[in-house]
Amino acid sequence: MAYEVTATRKRPQKFQDLAGQDFVVSTISSSIAKGRIAHAYLFSGPRGVGKTSAARILARSLNCQEGPTVDPCGKCNSCIEIARGSAMDVIEIDGASNTGVNDIREIKDEVLFAPNSCRYKVYIIDEVHMLSNSAFNALLKTIEEPPPYIIFIFATTEIHKVPATIRSRCQQFNFRLIDLERVKTLLGQVCQESSIQYDDDALLWIAKEGTGSLRDSYTLFDQVASFSEGYISLEKIREKLGLVGLEQMNQLAKIMLSGDLAQVMDLTDQILNSGVSVDQFLVELAEFFRSLLLIKAGIHRQSILGYEKDKFDLSLTEAYSQEQLLHGQELILNLYRDIRYSLNERFELELLLNRLIQLKEYISPARILGRIERLKQDLKISHISDENNEILIGQEKKKALNP
Ligand SMILES: [Zn+2]
Repeated sequence: MAYEVTATRKRPQKFQDLAGQDFVVSTISSSIAKGRIAHAYLFSGPRGVGKTSAARILARSLNCQEGPTVDPCGKCNSCIEIARGSAMDVIEIDGASNTGVNDIREIKDEVLFAPNSCRYKVYIIDEVHMLSNSAFNALLKTIEEPPPYIIFIFATTEIHKVPATIRSRCQQFNFRLIDLERVKTLLGQVCQESSIQYDDDALLWIAKEGTGSLRDSYTLFDQVASFSEGYISLEKIREKLGLVGLEQMNQLAKIMLSGDLAQVMDLTDQILNSGVSVDQFLVELAEFFRSLLLIKAGIHRQSILGYEKDKFDLSLTEAYSQEQLLHGQELILNLYRDIRYSLNERFELELLLNRLIQLKEYISPARILGRIERLKQDLKISHISDENNEILIGQEKKKALNP
């Protein structure tokens, strides 16, 4: 069955469909319900979490012929045109490519004209922090005294770059990263809608890679779904996207623990030959050691570990001490940082694996110092008791000589 790209096209149509932004949704909804409409909104937060979608929904809420309403009807002309992106009165501008003062001057002239068919003329300016200073100044005058039918909605991933003078004139909303479980649930819904079968951990992996951005997760999902032939599994993802995968990671760690260098090099060779990059290898190695460390510390949540706890070879967490795992993690991350300067990435990876083989023998400097300190104490005690013994023996001898 061929999969048609659907997830990335999924756009929330109402505020209540906006995932993971409950605070924003409830605040905007209640202010619309009370008829308190601001003339400038500022949506900030990480990429792909729903800022632009929220801006479009807000434009519809304000312009729906039944509204302004929290619940735009979706049937009137305004709703339909805005959803289609063809409404004359809802103007979307990409701040990244319209940074200059002239672009803003155009807006300044346009705002003097009343909306064509909608109630409000809405300007949605994405990535607003990219505007030049003079553009911001030009904009400021307009948002200070806007005609009553004008509404600005600004969106930005970098709120600190938006001048305070602009920020203070906007109603601000801070969007957050979306919880992993929530993203996973949403991906599950897409699967159901498209009659795709899936393994739970495969969806969790996609959500984890999306790092809290729904858009990134959907994009990756579409990519995975397109080669999955109706069944999304980690095995397929691993094979197609060039990943090491947990199973091989368990295996590798196990033979590293056994100290068999030849086997370690052999498996590494297999993994690299299957199309895994050294970079990717390091990322997964670091994630793996992180998970072992977390399990060792008693953390078992799947959304933090990335997999169910039982999928990890738990004999590894038994075999290593916490400081050994920490040290291993440090070695991996150091190489991950330096690998871009390397003349031969593969050699460096092999060197790292060699070091990790010796991880079992690793003793931290703090522990060595502790041991030395204890030895010193022991020596002192035995020295003192030796002295005491000598005194006692001396006394005995004296007694024997002078009964
Ligand atoms: Zn409507």
